[in-house]
Amino acid sequence: MAERRKRIVVVGGGAAGLGLCRSLSKRFRGTHEVTLVDRNRSHVWKPLLHEIAAGALDPNLEEIGYGGHAARWGYRFFQGALERIDREKRVVVTEPLLDEDGDVLLDRHELPYDWLVLAFGGVSNDLGIPGVNEHALFLEHRVQADRFRQKLLNACLRVNAARVAGQGDATLPIVIVGGGATGVELSAELVHAARSLRSYGLEGFEAEAMRITLLEAGPRLLPALGEDVVEKVTAELRDIGVDVRTDTKVTEVRSDGVTTGDGEEIPAKLILWATGVRGDPGVESMSDLELSKLDRIVVHPTLQSVTDDRILAIGDCAHCELPGRDGPVPPRAQAANQMADHVPDVIAAVEAGRTPPNFVYRDYGALVSLSHFDAVGTLMGNIAGGRVAIEGWLARMAYNSLYRLHILSVHGKIRGTAQLIANRIGRAARPRMKLH
Ligand SMILES: Cc1cc2nc3c(=O)[nH]c(=O)nc-3n(C[C@H](O)[C@H](O)[C@H](O)COP(=O)(O)OP(=O)(O)OC[C@H]3O[C@@H](n4cnc5c(N)ncnc54)[C@H](O)[C@@H]3O)c2cc1C
Repeated sequence: MAERRKRIVVVGGGAAGLGLCRSLSKRFRGTHEVTLVDRNRSHVWKPLLHEIAAGALDPNLEEIGYGGHAARWGYRFFQGALERIDREKRVVVTEPLLDEDGDVLLDRHELPYDWLVLAFGGVSNDLGIPGVNEHALFLEHRVQADRFRQKLLNACLRVNAARVAGQGDATLPIVIVGGGATGVELSAELVHAARSLRSYGLEGFEAEAMRITLLEAGPRLLPALGEDVVEKVTAELRDIGVDVRTDTKVTEVRSDGVTTGDGEEIPAKLILWATGVRGDPGVESMSDLELSKLDRIVVHPTLQSVTDDRILAIGDCAHCELPGRDGPVPPRAQAANQMADHVPDVIAAVEAGRTPPNFVYRDYGALVSLSHFDAVGTLMGNIAGGRVAIEGWLARMAYNSLYRLHILSVHGKIRGTAQLIANRIGRAARPRMKLH
């Protein structure tokens, strides 16, 4: 009788999980059955979300349907949200899948596994501040980016109508909380959007009508970047009109603005919360896996859970401390990519009776894009032989290379290159702003 194929279930088809399914399926063809479980039907790479939110990018051009990707690369896709992991029976249980009206499309499901790879990302950290979940918007997935863009466009239309009707002082105040990459990049994209709106038919909309305030609780923006780069970014943001305030802690979010630690009330029509990610608090009820303080799954340097070595966790949902490194591997796309590359080696080693290798994180640096205004950052390690600040076209190229790497890992070299060319043509053929 033919031996049963081993089952690898990957939960989460994001920056880490989607490329992983392709590589697992290629490497273990004929011996293992790979299944991807994701709550959505398609993937959009997260670092593009601020561009989608500001209308600078059409998400339809960038999204990858899981069903088609699975058919192309020989794995299964199952749509559903992880509800529970039964480690004793080695099954993952998915929640019932509902349609838009709340009717059940698919009942609760059990998927058996021999290996389980958790790659379900993280959620925005609300820091326990009152009003955040009720009144602020987040940028965690495509639906939220689309929602932000719709609200932004509606607000711009209102201001335009008011100005055309003679109310020259009508403004659109926007507060962005969190001076990390998301907050900084979104601020610059919004300024670019504000400057473009007039040519898209909003004749009354002066760029100054959009008042962007970027609030950061710490002493400086972008803690992951060098001091010199941060000074440059801060100066550049101020230069294009963003009101950057550091050492400013938000203590409450209301429907019409935020309150800061010193009691100031800053009005806002739109509030974007971007103070970093944490593990999904729901993960506690899903399993008995050991979690960090921020609800990330604690893994050995091999990426196997410290509770169960048949379960691996990668990307933003993993808490991975490595020998000789201060603090856990950061929640970044480059880390997610590298962790995904490591997983097949761990599975192959364990199945061959060898000791699984430790994951090695290579920090290639951090880069931020200031929309059409500039790109800056630092390259580190192997690329630059140290820590080197870069800017301009070189930084732009390095910034874009992260996306190229993701596309190549998801589609392979030939298809990936074709996809990148198609995207470029698609972008060139369409209007620069997506106003719908
Ligand atoms: C606006 C923005 C800009 C960023 N810019 C950069 C950057 O420039 N450089 C950089 O290195 N990093 C950047 N990041 C961080 C980077 O995007 C993340 O570190 C990376 O996406 C993490 O990958 P992941 O696979 O762990 O999670 P994700 O990419 O978030 O994927 C998680 C997947 O799991 C699915 N999922 C979630 N919960 C469940 C569930 N219960 N059941 C089933 N499926 C589930 C989701 O649908 C999703 O498909 C940025 C993030 C944001 C939001």
